Amino acid sequence: MGPQPPPPLQSKKRRIAMMTSGGDSPGMNGAIRAVVRMGIEKGCEVYCVYEGYEGLVQGHNFIRKFEWPEVRGWLSEGGTLIGTARCMAFYERPGRLKAAKNLVINGIDALIICGGDGSLTGADKFRAEWPGLLKELVETKELTAEQIEPFKHLNIVGLVGSIDNDMSGTDATIGCFSALGRICEMVDYIEATASSHSRAFVIEVMGRHCGWLALMAGVATGADFVFIPEKPRAENWKEEMLSIHRKIGKRKTIVIVAEGAHDQEGNKISPEMIKDLLANKQGLALDTRITTLGHVQRGGSACAYDRYLSTLQGVEAVKAVLDATPETPTPFIAINENKITRKPLVQAVLDTKEVAKAIEARDFDKAMSLRDTEFHMRIAIVHVGAPAGGVNAATRAAVAYCLTRGHTPLAIHNGFAGFARHHGDKPLGAVREFNWLEVDGWASKGGSEIGMNRETPAESGMELIASLFKKYRIDGLFIIGGFEAFQSLSQLRKARGQYSSLCIPMTLLPATISNNVPGTEYSIGSDTCLNELMSYCDKIKQSASASRRRVFVIETQGGRSGYVATLAGLAVGAIAVYTPEEGVSIDMLAADIDHLRKAFREDSGQSRAGRLILVNEKASKVYNAKLIADMIREEAHDRFESRDSIPGHVQQGGTPSPMDRTRAVRLAIKCIEHLEKYEDRADSTIINDPQSATVIGIKGASVVFSSMKDVEENETDWPNRRPKNEFWVELRHIVDTLSGRPDVPRPE
Ligand code: ATP
Repeated sequence: MGPQPPPPLQSKKRRIAMMTSGGDSPGMNGAIRAVVRMGIEKGCEVYCVYEGYEGLVQGHNFIRKFEWPEVRGWLSEGGTLIGTARCMAFYERPGRLKAAKNLVINGIDALIICGGDGSLTGADKFRAEWPGLLKELVETKELTAEQIEPFKHLNIVGLVGSIDNDMSGTDATIGCFSALGRICEMVDYIEATASSHSRAFVIEVMGRHCGWLALMAGVATGADFVFIPEKPRAENWKEEMLSIHRKIGKRKTIVIVAEGAHDQEGNKISPEMIKDLLANKQGLALDTRITTLGHVQRGGSACAYDRYLSTLQGVEAVKAVLDATPETPTPFIAINENKITRKPLVQAVLDTKEVAKAIEARDFDKAMSLRDTEFHMRIAIVHVGAPAGGVNAATRAAVAYCLTRGHTPLAIHNGFAGFARHHGDKPLGAVREFNWLEVDGWASKGGSEIGMNRETPAESGMELIASLFKKYRIDGLFIIGGFEAFQSLSQLRKARGQYSSLCIPMTLLPATISNNVPGTEYSIGSDTCLNELMSYCDKIKQSASASRRRVFVIETQGGRSGYVATLAGLAVGAIAVYTPEEGVSIDMLAADIDHLRKAFREDSGQSRAGRLILVNEKASKVYNAKLIADMIREEAHDRFESRDSIPGHVQQGGTPSPMDRTRAVRLAIKCIEHLEKYEDRADSTIINDPQSATVIGIKGASVVFSSMKDVEENETDWPNRRPKNEFWVELRHIVDTLSGRPDVPRPE
């Protein structure tokens, strides 16, 4: 067949193709939606390639132009709706030659690929070969020189979609936290039955080359043993396993094994081997069962993190395509702690091949290591504020770490209020030593096992609190909690001049669903809240598909911070988000109602799911969710309906999300390590050291301890109880862009 004419380009619009490849992962659809809509918003035409590289090689109907409404509702769909495949033809040059021809005849010169390291390796090879492929297509008269002229450079941008989290250079891949969530859910279920029958369970999880899922599931669920490919256990792992088990005398045993686990000699460690060891009659003789989780790990809809990660990364990928010059090295989009970044793809692929060193693994090792210190501290742990997911996991990790280091971890029950009022009571007094067996089952527990209270030390009476610090000989304080915890630490710090018992190192781990603690961009508990809110919204949205066209106005928590509302808005594709930072005005409401009318009018009927507006509880003193819903209903003149809905305390969450659990563990251990630095320091040096009272936080791409003094004075909006510069405020534009919200008038 001779050269085919390219479809006429009506305009000089840039054409971008989006593709998913390799194993599917939850969140891929969020990436497609973001690329399609952001591409269109930026004046491009966006095509989707069905069935991965297979579709690129086959061409024809596999490459199809997408319009804005077609991706509606995709955020909540698992897997990939444009399909994926393993394609043998693309490994060979003739296959890639066909793919190149298909791109040219469709007028496409930019490709965004969401896939694992194999897919991205293939992509980079394709880009490097591109000029040669075009030359060959002209030589063999498949295409003419004129046809290839506008397509001299192929821009490629990679998005890493993989449940394994196996790519170097990024902390998370699209899908890994959803898979981890599924695993943790299953392990939690298994744990309940395991401890009922006093059984051992060996659970096999995915991960042939990468143990991230197994390791993080172990951290998040508090498993007893974890076997991963990257770091084989010591030679005597069998003896170690049996002796530890005997020593701690537990009711249940949970072992998590990655598919690719092996010993130091490279011999595979299978679940059956572990079962035989635990069940051996001469040994522990435990009733042991094996569960292989298999494909449930891949399935289901994406968690909140994967939905906004894929959305933000899709947006960034389109920007990267538009910024690219022929000289720009092919990028992939990464996330480091809390920052979306562009990185060179080739290097990351090389690194991935060389090392699969889990960063978090080091923390886990530290937690479990038995190295000892010279000085032993009495470290008090207190929870201040309202419950948030991960508080117990953080406490468990801190206790475990203290015990391995020879410190004495002390529980202060029911916050400073409990400390002040019940310090004389026996035996359930407000202060006592933690023991390991007590905290062992806390990894997956919501709420606060030692009790939480909002009262600050100044409210309880600073003199009394200071005298109690002395009475219990507290050498270090670990506070977990939200804005009241931040206030408490500020008060204790300022009172140090008056009370020498307060001249001890103190650190705060922010934990609140509102994510409004200054000094960090992420408080533990906020991810659990987002997930709860997201599943609530998913259900409500679906309920509308059976009835009439409906808008739901949902009131979110979050205090005077619009974080939860905005991030949930990104994760569910809300058409508008109202925050306290911005406020609500009548003009804004009028413009949004207008937009809704238009959106419903233009609905093709493909998707009948409801539309959502998210309103933070303090966005406006007057316009609450109910009033806004009433106004919309009145103005809709029966063309659509409107309802308000308040999820309330559902948002504080039942079982904490794996992200909250794993981050809680990691940050809590860092906090105790930080306190330890002061173990032999005199009062006077402590009081003069700004780092002796700190808040731990994730800021941009790093985890940092910020001095409280500094954060209090420079980063805190005290009247509004939130940080001064909230990093996420800019994300508002992305929520608006992707929901097609026009530029509405903002309140003064
Ligand atoms: P997963 O994380 O699920 O393994 P992956 O992207 O690594 O995802 P692969 O099966 O390795 O999955 O790759 C997917 C497809 O990408 C392959 O079927 C093939 O078409 C293409 N591909 C992978 N590696 C290469 C390569 N080196 N050269 C050309 N194409 C490749």
